[in-house]
Formats: sequence, structure tokens, C-alpha cells
Amino acid sequence: MRRNIKQYINGEWMDSASGETIDVINPATEEVFGVIAKGNKEDVDKAVQAAKDVYITFRNTPVKERQEMLGRIVEAYKARKEDLIEAMTLELGSPVTKSEQVHYQSGLKHFQAAYDALENFEFEERRGNNLVIKEAIGVAGLVTPWNFPTNQTSLKLAAAFAAGSPVVLKPSELTPFAAIILAEIFDEAGVPKGVFNLVNGDGEGVGTPLSQHRDVRMMSFTGSGGTGSKIMEQASKDFKKVSLELGGKSPFIILDDADLDEAVQAAVAKVVNNTGQVCTAGTRTLVPEQLKEAFLEKAKAEMENVKVGDPQQAETEVGPIVSEKQYNQVQSYIQKGIDEGATLVSGGLGKPDGIEKGYFAQPTIFADVVNSMTIAQEEIFGPVMSVITYKTLDEAIAIANDTKYGLAGYVFGRDKEVLRKVARSIEAGMLVINESERTPDLPFGGYKQSGIGREWGDYGIEEFLEVKSITGYYN
Ligand code: NAD
Repeated sequence: MRRNIKQYINGEWMDSASGETIDVINPATEEVFGVIAKGNKEDVDKAVQAAKDVYITFRNTPVKERQEMLGRIVEAYKARKEDLIEAMTLELGSPVTKSEQVHYQSGLKHFQAAYDALENFEFEERRGNNLVIKEAIGVAGLVTPWNFPTNQTSLKLAAAFAAGSPVVLKPSELTPFAAIILAEIFDEAGVPKGVFNLVNGDGEGVGTPLSQHRDVRMMSFTGSGGTGSKIMEQASKDFKKVSLELGGKSPFIILDDADLDEAVQAAVAKVVNNTGQVCTAGTRTLVPEQLKEAFLEKAKAEMENVKVGDPQQAETEVGPIVSEKQYNQVQSYIQKGIDEGATLVSGGLGKPDGIEKGYFAQPTIFADVVNSMTIAQEEIFGPVMSVITYKTLDEAIAIANDTKYGLAGYVFGRDKEVLRKVARSIEAGMLVINESERTPDLPFGGYKQSGIGREWGDYGIEEFLEVKSITGYYN
């Protein structure tokens, strides 16, 4: 049993004020495997005070010093590789191979990207006889979800540290152990006390007082739209800056000249990665009408070949859904798809054959989906593909944009001009052509209800900065 019922505040592990705890469940076994502190307002107050006390000093550290600190974090992070992989496999149910290749790597790359971005980042700019300065915004509250325990935390932390903003982090109570290891990593890397504070607990107990705290100058949140809206409302009382990364229902558009085998492989991967618990998942698969039957046949075979099972086994590709609540949500969306008249091509309700324990869902394909159906409009956050057919490119673009979200979009085909045209036409923050890899220096964020602001690399650092102009500085 893992037990860490303390909060990391002002460079030390302190007792949590309430003395209450939260059980952490392994979604593959449905058993409690850990206990964390259930923080409250008192813990938040202490953490914010610690961050506030160090703000001016940290803000004024030479950039080089902050860059060196990020370099030490990279090394300390690498030294905890096995621990991070183990924690995420247990708390998220991520297959051990993915915990290493995706989750462990993603945290690392954000610290490295922030280090690299500082190499050329301009904090000051002369305009005539005047000066424009970018300086750290102040204490930042970070609230993160469970689906990428190292990625979502590290990208915010790396940017805040690079900018010179001290932080209070509240990770998801479903996946807190990766964040606890991050606290140990920062301790090891000599992050000055007060710069990083960790308060574990739930949304009400910790997230709410954090977003209401008058000494917090900015809230950076990743998670569901419902919570994002609450945080924005709470932060609006004293006009805090708010940065939000929310949900998505991204289109995966297959062009009529695409290599179908490659397109099927990529489309299925976009749906099942991380058990579909990915905000950028390409879950609306748009297929030219004439390719529908061929696509479905190949996609069914590909989907049924995906290895779902025990996350501890190296060959497993897809683990369980993170919690019973999320599992039930995925099931209710599959039921909705059936009720609204979509055709079930593979998968469906219940657990995969032979699996009794754990929150495992079946990778599922629906065909004959109309874009107005619930399974085409709402984020399922599970391994469910909704196949929609189109007749013309203009129709495909119109369907792709007919959503309240605008996070990502994928275009798959051969004709470069068409690929570019479609990519430019989608109202979303991140477009990917074919199987190109996103690099951590590219801005990450969405249009419409997918969020406000951009993260990753230099764009992420900008979020944690205020801009000051000094007229006549050089007079
Ligand atoms: P969630 O909104 O339930 O929780 C996210 C975090 O907010 C958790 O730490 C939670 O404890 C906290 N929280 C809950 N209520 C709060 C409140 N009233 N005030 C402050 N904090 C509160 O989301 P989740 O279930 O953890 O994550 C799944 C959702 O996150 C999905 O909708 C997904 O699309 C979205 N998401 C978006 C991105 C992105 O970058 N765009 C990335 C990952 C997840």
C-alpha cells in the first residue's frame, strides 16, 4: 500500500490540516492501492503564502539560473524513471509499455522544451526609447486531470518555472502519485522552497479555495468543461487570469486518395490511445462515402486486434478506463449510440470477453453516425469511434467544424494541396497532416469550447507572464 498523507509546502512535507484521507484505486483491479491527504482551505492558504513569499525573489532570478534549474529537473526526472512508470501503471491503469513510451517521455520532453525555449526567449525588448518587459505573473494555481499524470502537470510546471512564477499544484485525486514523485524530483533538483507547492485533495476542498484565493494571480486548468467553467467563475471575482485546456471531439478526415490500410491504422490508434482518454482523440472519423464499406471492414479487423488487458503485461496496448464513474459514462454513451440508431460495427456494451475485474471497456466502432447524434457531439473519453461518411470535401469540412469544440483535427491522404487546404479550413488549434509527430515546441490549445490560451514550449511560458511597458526608459 502506498501512503503519502502529507502536503509538500514551502520545501517540506507537512501534515495536512484536516487529517482526512482519500483512497486511490487501481482501475485494473478495482482495489485500493494507496492513500493520500484530503487537503482543505487551510492547506491551500499555507501553500499560497509560501509561493507568495518567494515570488519576487524567484521572479528576479537570472534566466540562466532558472534554465539551470530546469536542467537539473531533467536529470532528476530521468533518475526516477522506473518509479514514475510504476506509479502511472497503477493509478491510471496505463499499460506499462505506454507508461514508459508515452507518459514518462511526455513529462520529460516538457522540462527539456522549457529549457530549450529559455535559450532564446526575449524577456525584454527595446522599442525606440522605451522598454517592454515580460515578467512572471505571480502565484499560479495549477489544477490538472488524471488522463496524463506527468504530461498535464509537467507542461504547466515547466512553463511556470521558466517564466519565474511560483505555483501551487492540485493534481487529480485519481492519479496523485506521479505528482508526489514530481515533488520529490523538484526537491532533489534544488527547486527553491516555496516555488513548488503540492496540495492533494479533491476539487471542492482544494481546487475551489485555490481558484478563489486573492493572492493567486492566475489559474491554469486542464480538465472538463464543467469544471473549467466553475474555475473561471470563481477566478472572476478578483479578475484572475485564467488559462483553460478543456475537451474535444476532433475530426479525423480521410481523403479519397488515402492509403486505406495506413489510414485505418492511424484512425484506430487515434481512438484507442490511452484507452480513448485523450482530449485530442480523433473520434469522429470522416470517410468518403465510396470508401465506407472497405474502411469499416478493415477498421473492424484492426480494432478487434487491439490487445486490451492487464496493464502490467508488456504486450498490452489498452488498459482499463480510469474509474468506475468514467467507465459508466463510456457505457452510457455506447448505449446512446445504439438508442439513437448508429450501427454497432465492433465492440459495444460491457467488458471484453474473458475480463471480469477492472474497468475495462470494449474498443468500439459505430457506423452510420450522423453528426447531430450525441456520440458525434459529446466527448466520450473512451475507445469509441464514430464513423461519419461524406460526399464532398466541402461537406467534410462543414461536418468537421460543426461542433462546439475546436481542439484538434487530423487529415489523412496524399494530395499535398488538398491536405493543406483541409488543415487550414478546420476551426481548431492543432491540425496534424498524416502521421506527422507533434513536437513540444508547437503551441497546444483549442478554439471555441476547447479552451482559452496556449501551452507547451515558448507559447506556454508566455501564459505565465505579464507585460510591462516603461516609456522613456532610454531617454
Ligand atoms: P475534471 O474537470 O473532473 O477534473 C479536473 C481537475 O479539476 C481535477 O484535479 C479535479 O479534482 C479538479 N476539480 C474538480 N472540481 C473542481 C472545482 N469545482 N474547482 C476546482 N477544481 C476542481 O476532469 P477529469 O475528469 O479529471 O478529466 C477529464 C476531462 O478533462 C475530459 O473532459 C477531457 O477532455 C479534459 N481534458 C482536457 C485536456 C486538454 O488539454 N484540453 C487534457 C486532458 C483532459
